[in-house]
Amino acid sequence: MIDLRSDTVTKPTPGMREAMANAMVGDDVFGEDPTVIALEERMAALFGHEAGLYCGSGTQTNQIAINVHTRPGDEVICDEGAHVYRYEGGGMMANSGCSVKFVAGDRGRFTAAQVEGAIGNAADVHQARTRLVNIENTVNRGGGAVWELDEVERIREVCNDRGLALHMDGARIFNALAVTGEVPAAWGAVFHSISICLSKGLGAPVGSVLTGQRDFIREARRVRKRFGGGMRQAGIIAAAGLYALEHHVDRLQDDHARAKRLEKALLLMPFVDHVMPVGSNIVVFTLKTGYDAQQMLGALRERGVLAMQFGPGMVRMVTHLDVDDVGITRVIAGLEELSNLKV
Ligand SMILES: *Cc1c(COP(=O)(O)O)cnc(C)c1O
Repeated sequence: MIDLRSDTVTKPTPGMREAMANAMVGDDVFGEDPTVIALEERMAALFGHEAGLYCGSGTQTNQIAINVHTRPGDEVICDEGAHVYRYEGGGMMANSGCSVKFVAGDRGRFTAAQVEGAIGNAADVHQARTRLVNIENTVNRGGGAVWELDEVERIREVCNDRGLALHMDGARIFNALAVTGEVPAAWGAVFHSISICLSKGLGAPVGSVLTGQRDFIREARRVRKRFGGGMRQAGIIAAAGLYALEHHVDRLQDDHARAKRLEKALLLMPFVDHVMPVGSNIVVFTLKTGYDAQQMLGALRERGVLAMQFGPGMVRMVTHLDVDDVGITRVIAGLEELSNLKV
């Protein structure tokens, strides 16, 4: 099976498993796991932040960040397709008592002017206090769209003027950096906090790191415990994250080239209505009316390819380190066979 449902489906490589088996460990709730500490320090240094916090998932790092930045009743500005709103089980409302002010971005990327326009009047007691802006990079529902740093810098200026915090859901930030060639610290300089997933394109089996300034991370550590996310000999899994940073960052461009191949092929398929411009490793396309996504996914599965429904008549395919060029050739051959079917 060629599994393009997500870049989370990757299995640890033999080298990664070896690093995990050999990891030095300690009790991380006591702050004594040297491998976890090394990963947190490495990630923070990459982004030019003072400290890091290793967590079990990207949902957890995002939810902890939102909790530390806000108070109940506060309002968070994000795109209407944002992971923090759509895919985290209602977490920011349930865990932190926040409401949401949506802005409609261009494939998830909004402007400083939109942020400015979305901020409530702090002097008006009728209104929720706007407190936080969430930027997702790359944008999952935007076909892996990549933000421009210039616009984010302008958004940060608005945040500075209006007393807001700026958080990046950087689940796939290394994919974004592979596209732009920027260094992580250029992005770290603009955000109060960043959540980075190790379990997506980087291929670790589990884990995300939250980075920020020392006081922020100290409070985040308390919230992680409160949310039940304190882990003990977590160096076993953190070792996979360190290994991923060392070995799986430079290869992300291969995933992007493969996603581009899929985009080009899909544009020629008679059943495809629209392909979202491919920004990195995520391919999102819609089917022409008369074609059923579930039926199409079933027919693809029979041809050894797994993809995911992403909305009505909408399909997502994600490239990752367990799919090579031969695999993509097979996916395209499977799609071509479907062209001859009326599914
Ligand atoms: C995957 C993902 C997350 C975190 O998801 P977990 O499954 O909880 O690790 C956060 N944001 C985006 C955009 C994601 O794609």
